[in-house]
Amino acid sequence: AVIDSDVLVIGAGAAGLFAALTAGQRGRRVQVIDHANKVGKKILMSGGGRCNFTNTGTTAANYLSANPHFCKSALARYTPADFIALVEKHRIAYHEKELGQLFCDTSSKAIVRLLLDECAQAGVQVRTDTAVEAIETIADGWQLRTSNGVYTARSLIVATGGLSVPTMGATGFGYEIAKRYGHSVLPTRAGLVPLTLSGKPLERFDGLSGVALEVEAQCGKASFRNQLLITHRGISGPAILQISNYWQPGKELRLDLLPGTDALTWLQQMKAERGASELRTVLGEILPKRLAQRLCEQWLGDKPVRQFDERQLQTAASLLNDFPLTASGTEGYRTAEVTLGGVDTAKVSSASMESKLQPGLFLVGEVLDVTGWLGGYNFQWAWASGHAAGQAA
Ligand code: FAD
Repeated sequence: AVIDSDVLVIGAGAAGLFAALTAGQRGRRVQVIDHANKVGKKILMSGGGRCNFTNTGTTAANYLSANPHFCKSALARYTPADFIALVEKHRIAYHEKELGQLFCDTSSKAIVRLLLDECAQAGVQVRTDTAVEAIETIADGWQLRTSNGVYTARSLIVATGGLSVPTMGATGFGYEIAKRYGHSVLPTRAGLVPLTLSGKPLERFDGLSGVALEVEAQCGKASFRNQLLITHRGISGPAILQISNYWQPGKELRLDLLPGTDALTWLQQMKAERGASELRTVLGEILPKRLAQRLCEQWLGDKPVRQFDERQLQTAASLLNDFPLTASGTEGYRTAEVTLGGVDTAKVSSASMESKLQPGLFLVGEVLDVTGWLGGYNFQWAWASGHAAGQAA
């Protein structure tokens, strides 16, 4: 039997479910199919199990895209306040962690339940374990052959996400569909991902895995002040995940290890007041001790502060405020939270997410070349772009 509907959504993740419930609320008959055995797997694992579901300070400036204006219309028409109202309607307790990031108090499961409840109320049917075998356009829309029968629909919404975390069901399927209808796909790479070090830089940090400190990480014009974590293979933590979106092989990273402190003034003051103390001792009072010790041994000089002449103080200060680091790579899609690049937005309507090349084809969420910073921005894009398509499909 053929399952017919007005709107067929491929991908039961954040963007697909949101598009589906929006279209369903408009009276459209909606089917959602997903090849995974469970819906919203990324939502479940997000935010350390508590889902950072939005950011109250969301603006277009928090996204990377070849067209930085593309995301504006959808973000303006479905705002963080709109999603918060929905969270409150479902009586989900939440809190702000920092920097406008909103998390569930208990579990991300509540967000998946919210989406499924809204879908059910709007009459949306969701089917898991359903793989698409063939897609074709027919006179009045689309026909898909799947592992669970044939589906027909007037509109097709592609919400298959990016390539990150393949074990959660991520595939490049959305890119293939887009290409087939003439869209270009901009080069993809892992984003919001730990960076790896190799050779000398890795050796010099050997044994420091687990050390965390606040830094300002800078790459080109982008900079983020937050925590850095030294790992067995390199560096991670929010500051590094954020800057990873802007880093590419060969680009230099710079770390301010004492953000907000002018290191030269501080060193001169230490020399005047505590000249007999070892630099590692005084530095160990404002940085993690093991790191302070290693910095002195490997880079700054390991001796009492009074033995540093002015030129040596300047060199040490510039290392502390502007530490150069060459990453060798990223940990890749296995641990990346997002995929940079994707379907070029040039031939997609920013108002409706509909293809300008193939009427009735919509693309939403991470499959598009729109990538948010760490902090709830990626889900806000999933809700907003899903809402835009759900209003139009
Ligand atoms: P997805 O949520 O990835 O959904 C895509 C769906 O399509 C999946 O269900 C998949 O099974 C299905 N699919 C794929 N290929 C096919 C196919 N061929 N056939 C049928 N179905 C298919 N963002 C935040 O804003 N806040 C956070 O706290 C946060 N934490 C994260 C933590 C982790 C570990 C990860 C990996 C990501 C996190 N993100 C977070 C990013 C966020 O999860 C994504 O940006 C968001 O889920 C993208 O939504 P989407 O609907 O476009 O894609």
